[in-house]
Amino acid sequence: MGTKAREIVGMDVEKLLGLLNKALADEWLAYYQYWIGAKVVVGPIRNDVVTELVEHATDELRHAGMLVDRMIQLGGTPLLKPEDWYKQTNCGYEAPEDFYMEAIVKQNIKGEQCAISVYNSLLKITREADPITYEMVYQILNDELSHEEDLENLLEDMHVKEKALA
Ligand code: FE
Ligand code: FE
Ligand code: MG
Repeated sequence: MGTKAREIVGMDVEKLLGLLNKALADEWLAYYQYWIGAKVVVGPIRNDVVTELVEHATDELRHAGMLVDRMIQLGGTPLLKPEDWYKQTNCGYEAPEDFYMEAIVKQNIKGEQCAISVYNSLLKITREADPITYEMVYQILNDELSHEEDLENLLEDMHVKEKALA
C-alpha cells in the first residue's frame, strides 16, 4: 500500500475502492462474455467478428489489471471470488445463448454502453479528488468508446453483407 498515495486522495478512499471493485466485476464479466462469444459465434462475417471480440476481451482483461493495481496502491482488497462478480457488477452478464453474430454483437454493444456510463460517472467523481485514478479511468473510457464504435461498425458491415447475399 502507498500510505501517502492514499493520503492525497481528496475523497472517501473506501468509497472509491468500492466503486473500483464494482468496475472490476464488470470487467471480468465483460471479458468472459467476449471470450466465450468469440468461441461460439456463427454467421457470414464470422472471422471479422471473432477478431474484434478477441481483441476486446484482451482489453477488458487489461482494464481489470489496471483497476486492481490502483486498488492495491490505495490499500484496498480487490474482489477475490468469482461469485462476487455477480454480486458487485453494475452492468451484469448476458450469456451469448443465441450464437448468431448479430445477437452477440448487440449484447456486447449494450455492455459497452453500460461501461461507458459507469466510467463516465467515475470520471466525474475523481476529476478533482484523485487525478491518478481519473487518468486511469480516462484511458479505460477511451477504450470503451472505441469498443462501442467498432461493434456498431461491425453491425453495419453485417447488414451490408446480408443485403449482398439476399
Ligand atoms: Fe473494459
Ligand atoms: Fe469494452
Ligand atoms: Mg476493437
